[in-house]
Amino acid sequence: MKSNNYLRIVPIGGLGEIGKNMMAYEYGDDILIVDTGIMFPENDMLGIDYIIPDFQYLMDRKDKVRGIIITHGHEDHTGAISHVLDEFNAPIYATPLTRGLLEVKLSRGGHLNKAKLVTVQAGEKVKVGVFEIEFAHVCHSIPDGVALGITTPEGLVVHTGDYKFDHTPVDNWPTDYAKLSEWGGRGVLALMADSTNADTPGWTPSERMIDPAFDMVFRQAEGRILVASFASLISRMEQVAQAAINHGRKMAFVGTSMRENAKMATKLGYLDLPDDLIVPLDQALKMKPKKVVLMCTGSQGEPTSIMGRLATGRNRQFDVQKGDTIVLSSHPIPGNEESVYRTINKLFQRGANVIYDPIIPVHVSGHASQEEMKLMLHLVRPKYLVPIHGELRHLRQHGKMAEELGMQPENIAVVENGTIIEFEDEIMRIGERLPGGYVFVDGSRVGDVGPAVVRERGSLSRDGFVSVSVLLDKGFRQRRDPAIETRGYVYKDDLASLEEDVDGVVEDVLHKALSSNGQKDEVDLETDLEQALRRMLSQKSSRRPLIFIRVDIV
Ligand SMILES: [Zn+2]
Ligand SMILES: [Zn+2]
Repeated sequence: MKSNNYLRIVPIGGLGEIGKNMMAYEYGDDILIVDTGIMFPENDMLGIDYIIPDFQYLMDRKDKVRGIIITHGHEDHTGAISHVLDEFNAPIYATPLTRGLLEVKLSRGGHLNKAKLVTVQAGEKVKVGVFEIEFAHVCHSIPDGVALGITTPEGLVVHTGDYKFDHTPVDNWPTDYAKLSEWGGRGVLALMADSTNADTPGWTPSERMIDPAFDMVFRQAEGRILVASFASLISRMEQVAQAAINHGRKMAFVGTSMRENAKMATKLGYLDLPDDLIVPLDQALKMKPKKVVLMCTGSQGEPTSIMGRLATGRNRQFDVQKGDTIVLSSHPIPGNEESVYRTINKLFQRGANVIYDPIIPVHVSGHASQEEMKLMLHLVRPKYLVPIHGELRHLRQHGKMAEELGMQPENIAVVENGTIIEFEDEIMRIGERLPGGYVFVDGSRVGDVGPAVVRERGSLSRDGFVSVSVLLDKGFRQRRDPAIETRGYVYKDDLASLEEDVDGVVEDVLHKALSSNGQKDEVDLETDLEQALRRMLSQKSSRRPLIFIRVDIV
């Protein structure tokens, strides 16, 4: 038997996809969780609100979970926290702003009193089980992000979180290069590094680059300005505030999450808004259009966000009006492009002028590009590299870059969610692959909706449904013609010919059932009928409607 005393790194989410980042570090009887993110559904995941990581591995080892560290306040790192807290009662470590954002989130879900939140500052150290974790400040598109230096019994592992190397960040707090290189000097066993922009050459521009773009927009806008962004994009609030001051506008926050986050970030000192700048929304709506800027959620076209509601004319307090300038200050998350562009089109229809990247650079990435990723490798100088945060193409590209810098291919582990990576005596092994997948959250229900339901919704939306109801007596004779209903399904010829063909299928199935000496019950008949009907329909057209069969024997 192999001893249990080696390091296991278990990627639970974010490897092989963008979003729902979650990683577990396990040694002996201790597990440390890093990040608990969500992912937004792709267009073909109909009716799904969001997706959380499948953390069954941790459920099977509940008593080992010693702590949770959240690297920064974005949804793809924090969003699943309440679901995780439902299962594990471990302390959560976060920097002040990240903690503040978690508190706003948890209090809305009624989870706040049971959460054990611990504030850590960049530069500090905490002990979680056998792990000792140091926090180093990194720049990103949200303040107060950290990279982690995790001292394990097998060696030092550096986990970057999301980062970029911005020399002029909005909060004037650059990445802690000294700490990263100090770790490098100490000797790093493995680097787990962000790969989101691995296919973007060069350097990611500084966040400051947005300032001139905003300045231009504010100079040219004749009416109201509405800026849509993530509720957690604190630095963008600061930049919009500065533009508002420069151009003599007042600023109002629209939507609860935006307002609460702004209040919290101001209280903690991450946001510096002069008292006379901010006005309540109802006051802003009465002011001259040229005198206001509204900051709202919905840069991803989410239907329930303020921008989503404005686009469809369903917002309660106000509508888009002619002359409005709307700035979408974020990139569409991969998979969201369609809904973002649909929202933009609708806003144009309503008379607004919509400004979005790349029309004017009103957004800049928060993630490292290729040259920064190389610099990270040079600073940290790891023996092994595990690319994290990215689709397989990003992870591969990251690995390829490391090879160009002279790393041995066998020291680079490009793996997707569920593939365990083990470290023992400085040797890396690729361990077993856990089963797993998506856990869909639909309304407030978690996990009830599986891939089968999503598939059904897919065929419903594409090809409609056909329902056939058959009423039989005990001798399997039909007591009436089959009742056929269709919605959204068009038969090759017409309904009459569909009825004819269905009749034929029913007769055929009943005939076979009789010759099987009548042992079949309703459920058997329903299965047989469904198969026969599916076969018949597939011969007629390439459409695959959802088929619903009901057999009653009376
Ligand atoms: Zn992030
Ligand atoms: Zn992220």
